[in-house]
Amino acid sequence: MKITFWGVRGSYPVPGAATVRYGGQTSCVEARSAAGDCVIVDAGTGMRALGNKLVREMTGPQRYNVLLSHVHWDHIQGLPFFSPAYVPGTKIAVHALLTAADELQQVIGGITRHEFFPMPLEAVPAQFEFHQVEPGVEFDLGAFHVTPIALNHPFGSVGYRIDGDGSSWAYIADTAPFTDVLHKQHFLAGPEPLSDGDKTSLGTMREALLRKLQGVDTVVYDTHFLPDEYARFPHFGHSTPDQALEICVEAKVRRLVLYHHAPSHSDEQMDQIAAQYLAKGEKLGIEVLTSFEGMTLPIGVEPAT
Ligand SMILES: [Zn+2]
Ligand SMILES: [Zn+2]
Repeated sequence: MKITFWGVRGSYPVPGAATVRYGGQTSCVEARSAAGDCVIVDAGTGMRALGNKLVREMTGPQRYNVLLSHVHWDHIQGLPFFSPAYVPGTKIAVHALLTAADELQQVIGGITRHEFFPMPLEAVPAQFEFHQVEPGVEFDLGAFHVTPIALNHPFGSVGYRIDGDGSSWAYIADTAPFTDVLHKQHFLAGPEPLSDGDKTSLGTMREALLRKLQGVDTVVYDTHFLPDEYARFPHFGHSTPDQALEICVEAKVRRLVLYHHAPSHSDEQMDQIAAQYLAKGEKLGIEVLTSFEGMTLPIGVEPAT
């Protein structure tokens, strides 16, 4: 199994001279099994280039599975520009954490309403299916076994552990640490003092995340903020690399990949972050990589040759 990063940015796309090397497109990762099965995690603007590649590779009608962490703009905006959707015979199954699959259809249908986009969802040649995921309810998609994990983000978000080809990786975005913000809290309300009940549910969420990440090879984690930025915007619902490291070290993960970079971080800043946390990880016995657009990683330790 290998994964490829098509968009590594959080919040909104930032193409331009300052982001040429790490990339300016928003969240999208492709996983491929050795047999060629594909699963796409998140549908940010990085999905557009992925779609173009998939159309070039197409040999006949295809079915694609798209796992959404949540439906904030930076995780769905690429979907209307995913070119396989315009190839007749294509099937696209969208899986997401929402109260009902028909609500998900309304969200995706909503962003392609005629005010926003020239072609409504019903007119798109591909056939769309919508599936609701629930934390703790595991399912199989071809060569992959998928475990949804509840995360701490305004209005909720879900991470995915994905097992395949004898190894595993996890996609943990978007999430705040498990100390400040509850998923049910409204963004504008900001962080509020936590009640005992809040503390218990956040503690339960953290424990469940640790259990699911136990021994996972590679964890891609929302590390949007540096610690000083996090202190100013805890209610945005994102983590720092230090918070990701803490979770990954506790879960005995082999490799952490920094992801969902703040749009304000230039390539120069990203170089500093990458070097700083690679060194921090070395001291803690964990490999820390920083994702960039176009990066492909094999999952699992390569057999010695
Ligand atoms: Zn996001
Ligand atoms: Zn979000």
